[in-house]
Amino acid sequence: MEGYKHILLAVDFEPVEIVADRAKALAETYQAALSIIHVVDNMPIPDTGYGLDTALDVDLTGEMIDAAKKQLSGLANKLGVEEDRLWVGLGSPKLEITRIAEENQVDLIVVGSHGRHGLALLLGSTANGVLHHAKCDVLAVRLKDN
Ligand code: AMP
Repeated sequence: MEGYKHILLAVDFEPVEIVADRAKALAETYQAALSIIHVVDNMPIPDTGYGLDTALDVDLTGEMIDAAKKQLSGLANKLGVEEDRLWVGLGSPKLEITRIAEENQVDLIVVGSHGRHGLALLLGSTANGVLHHAKCDVLAVRLKDN
């Protein structure tokens, strides 16, 4: 079997270490390029019913993208990943992760089995979505329940 050439680590920052370590170890094993992606989820804030539409109509997208870039840089430093291998997407995480993977000839996507979105599902919604949309291999690193 041919080894992996380009591994994409998808992070939502919490919990990240065990997933990042696994991606790094695999990249070393296969002498593969390692890239990292975080997608700023632009899901609209649902109508709260409080009549607060004006107060909530604040676009924090720019700030969120800047904050994500800073966090990604920190992680990239730790993992020894070059700045030009960092991606900050905007939109649906599963769609952006798989789109960037396809456009950049990624052959393995590494995600956590679940992330910030809770433990209700054995496999979190983003992990599940990536698994169904990706055209390449996907590794879901099993995370303990706390
Ligand atoms: P979830 O399905 O949201 O519980 O998250 C499972 C895994 O999907 C996380 O551990 C990350 O690896 C990845 N993930 C979730 N949300 C994002 C995001 N916004 N950007 C990049 N990766 C994500």
